[in-house]
Amino acid sequence: MSNDRDTCSKCGEKSIIKGDISLRTSKTNEIIMVVRQDHGVEKNVPLQSSVCCKCGFVDFYVQDPIHLKISSEDRPINPDFKQRPMLESDF
Ligand SMILES: [Zn+2]
Repeated sequence: MSNDRDTCSKCGEKSIIKGDISLRTSKTNEIIMVVRQDHGVEKNVPLQSSVCCKCGFVDFYVQDPIHLKISSEDRPINPDFKQRPMLESDF
């Protein structure tokens, strides 16, 4: 994967619109990502996006990918969640 943020990963043109483009919901002003559904764990992480002005392709980046890993301290948000056993491969 290219680290070049100016290049569209779909059409390959250096046509990514300059500057930070953020998305927000009308209520919370932040994107909420539901992740690790296997474990019922939800985590929020700020999303960054880039938009290609040639083909309209939208790419997303998260600012803190490490945050999305689950740890043994993470608990399902729903206490009734039937958790499957955590496996070594989950970390
Ligand atoms: Zn493009």
